[in-house]
Amino acid sequence: ADEALIAFDTLTDRASNLIEPTLRLGVTGLSRAGKTVFITSLVHNLLHGGRLPMFQASHSGRLAGATLEPQPDDAVPRFQYEDHAARLIEERLWPDSTRAISELRLVIEYESASGWNRFFSGGRLCLDIVDYPGEWLLDLPLLGQDFAAFSLNAASLARSSARLDLATPWLDRAGTIDPHKPANEGDARELARLYTDYLRACKRDERALSTLPPGRFLMPGDLDGSPALTFAPLPNLPDTPAPKGSLQAMMERRFESYKSVVVKPFFREHVARLDRQIVLIDAMQAMNAGREAVIDLERALSDVLSCFRPGRGNLLTSLVSRRIDKVLIAATKADHLHHESHDRLEAIARRIVDRASKDIGSSGAHIEVLALAAVRATREATARQDGETLPVIVGIPLEGEKIGTESFDGNRKTAIFPGDLPLNPDSFFKAVDSGSQAMPPDINIVRFRPPMIELSDSGVKLSLPHIRLDRALEYLLGDRLA
Ligand code: GDP
Repeated sequence: ADEALIAFDTLTDRASNLIEPTLRLGVTGLSRAGKTVFITSLVHNLLHGGRLPMFQASHSGRLAGATLEPQPDDAVPRFQYEDHAARLIEERLWPDSTRAISELRLVIEYESASGWNRFFSGGRLCLDIVDYPGEWLLDLPLLGQDFAAFSLNAASLARSSARLDLATPWLDRAGTIDPHKPANEGDARELARLYTDYLRACKRDERALSTLPPGRFLMPGDLDGSPALTFAPLPNLPDTPAPKGSLQAMMERRFESYKSVVVKPFFREHVARLDRQIVLIDAMQAMNAGREAVIDLERALSDVLSCFRPGRGNLLTSLVSRRIDKVLIAATKADHLHHESHDRLEAIARRIVDRASKDIGSSGAHIEVLALAAVRATREATARQDGETLPVIVGIPLEGEKIGTESFDGNRKTAIFPGDLPLNPDSFFKAVDSGSQAMPPDINIVRFRPPMIELSDSGVKLSLPHIRLDRALEYLLGDRLA
């Protein structure tokens, strides 16, 4: 049935693509990775003629303009571009982050370099941008698990050294409950709450862990409080089957509902219809949190990439990913580093991606890696300290940010030495693999306010400054504007 529905959607999309060339671009990443900021900056730069030298269509002067038009899917919320852009540009504050799926259609008018495209599409490409939480993508592996396997995986991850202290309240309480006792809503709710609290604690800055399924527990969208989300793994499942009416039977049923009414429709209706995908990762935050966070990011990326490179023998995943031909993994917030470190960040991200793709299928989408800042909040400068010249970045730290004992009020321009990433990723990953806690890079991550937008000579506001956004656009859209 899934196959038929996906095939039908694909046919419908193909038919409308003939009339109106369309590219469906998925934008995902774990919460706070930078999806909202990325989409806002991408759209702003295309609407306002941003400086995009590595984006061929723009560089060669073939971009004629871009406009926002009504999106094709009436049942999906619209990405609130105007609100996000106003907050970034007028208030110079970061917009509200992604909490559920949303969509935006940007129509790009261009002059085709090829007569063929000019004839058929008149140089118009509908770019449908689909924003959704990466947490939801990490649910795909659940489709291949029954409740017992899910419980076993969840419990062994919870007992790992990076998580045990955070998981203890849930593990302890779950350990006192007999899975075969009669089902009751109170137990289900308490266990679901304790399990969600544990996942939430793993996500916080100090741990910055990434693999935290079920994805809707952290990002419920509109399903908050529904029975399909009121379950939890049971860590000490007996070998005997669940008696009818038992807590275990209830949890099993809800886990199955979660898969069939939440996970599957999401993949079928949304992911399966994407043509291209960008996955944003906050590699610097993971590196700063330590080796466990880096390993966990690799594990999450591996799950994400196996959605797009399914390998053999996995029917649903291969259905889901059939259409996507290019995936870009982008390490975000590169403006936290001096430009000397941008290539290093890219090299580290590439290595993380290589390590994460070891066990995934080899056919499927082409994967590229990039370091970027969708919005550049800092400028570069040099400072002299103890007779040495140091590369620094200058920006206005957000209200409430602290460096050492100094705290900021959100108005003061400040130079900080961001720290260096290792020149050679080998040393970094050697430290990760050897289990040594002291990891080489020590980056100062200070959160800055969004930048002031400069005015052109004629007094017009220019577009949002960025780092390497043009390269991302070239990879994701370049060939469709040829
Ligand atoms: P989402 O949860 O993936 O939608 O994440 P957001 O787009 O809301 O970004 C989360 C936070 O990361 C923002 O509030 C900013 O503080 C920061 N951020 C995101 N992108 C950038 C960037 O390009 N540069 C800088 N300096 N900060 C960024």
